[in-house]
Amino acid sequence: MGFSYPGFTYRNDRLHVEGLALEDIAARHGTPCYVYSREAIESAYREYERALAGRPALIAYSVKANSNLAVLNVMSRLGAGFDIVSGGELSRVLAAGGDPRKVVFSGVGKTEDEIAAALEAGILSINLESPEELERVDGVAGRLGKVAPIAFRVNPDVDARTHPYISTGLKKNKFGVAYADAERLYRDAAHRPHVRTVGVGCHIGSQLTGAGPFVAAAERMLALVQRLDKAGIALEHIDLGGGVGIRYKDETLEPVAAFLDGALGMLAGRKETLIVDPGRSLVGNAGVLLCRVEYVKHGEAKNFLVVDAAMNDLIRPALYNAWHEILPARKDSGPGAVYDVVGPVCETGDFLGHERRLAASAGDLLAVMSAGAYAMTMSSNYNSRPRAPEVLVDGSEMHLVRERETVAELFAKERVLL
Ligand SMILES: *Cc1c(COP(=O)(O)O)cnc(C)c1O
Repeated sequence: MGFSYPGFTYRNDRLHVEGLALEDIAARHGTPCYVYSREAIESAYREYERALAGRPALIAYSVKANSNLAVLNVMSRLGAGFDIVSGGELSRVLAAGGDPRKVVFSGVGKTEDEIAAALEAGILSINLESPEELERVDGVAGRLGKVAPIAFRVNPDVDARTHPYISTGLKKNKFGVAYADAERLYRDAAHRPHVRTVGVGCHIGSQLTGAGPFVAAAERMLALVQRLDKAGIALEHIDLGGGVGIRYKDETLEPVAAFLDGALGMLAGRKETLIVDPGRSLVGNAGVLLCRVEYVKHGEAKNFLVVDAAMNDLIRPALYNAWHEILPARKDSGPGAVYDVVGPVCETGDFLGHERRLAASAGDLLAVMSAGAYAMTMSSNYNSRPRAPEVLVDGSEMHLVRERETVAELFAKERVLL
């Protein structure tokens, strides 16, 4: 199997990100540490751009995958828009120089303050997920003397065939409004003075490996748009969501173009802007979590590599039993042994990989691959562990784009009783 991490490669047996050895990054910034490749992010973005060429389209990067300001800034310079799910993410996008007119706001629980902030910023679309939210947005916009651009996130009831925790487009999921109710909701919205209907959206789930469910959802959306059209409700955009998967292990993946071509074929002749909001597929394989082996521990039934990164830095293995490749920063020639790679957190679920053959000894550096998405953004301070720094590599330059947290920062806002 080929080495499939653009931006990462072994040279002289040392794992490099672009022009830099991971060992040199660890020497400078310590471990654990997230390392991202700008080149890998840009090449993933260009794949979407190529697939969408020749049609009015917006690539709205899903901020929750990796919300570091430097990453958002790279996206913004590429021309990306942003899919946000909170007021905090909106603030990040604005701080990173993102264009608010390219922002779509998703999520089932938007507060009045978040809606107001989005209207003040002048975003492209608030994606509504319930009739109650339509009511609230209409009210907030009225109080601010504004007209809110809205879309409904419609649940197409398509099985994304992915992990149940990241499947979002089924009737039983909390997301979106029912497909059968959509037309009525659009009619209701048309009568409200403080909303303006601009689009329709869906997002069926994450880590999709095949284009089938994505295209099926697009087909359902298109049928709805045609019905709305007949009812005199014209839209400016159709948002098909994100969800394109990446290769973590040995998944067979259809390329981005296969996902989009299916949808583009159906949309041919329609004038609405096509919006997609990819997260994982833009940044997932553009990042690694660097860690160092603290102990090689020979247990009664298993051998362990106890490393200095843990579930608080990368929760995906504990949360979804996700598999991440773990590679040595310096290739070792020995046969090695089979280890569970675990962190120091006091939970049996604190592992980064089970039963991996590695020839590592204490002090060695390991790279947990595919840690560019849903890694740092899902991190926590559990066990009072300061969050790891983030480094963005650009050619042969390393940029520290987030400093390591200090322990003092962790309890700076706490008080003991007087
Ligand atoms: C999370 C999310 C995405 C991004 O999903 P990926 O699987 O990372 O591409 C896109 N759209 C919406 C509405 C989301 O909530």
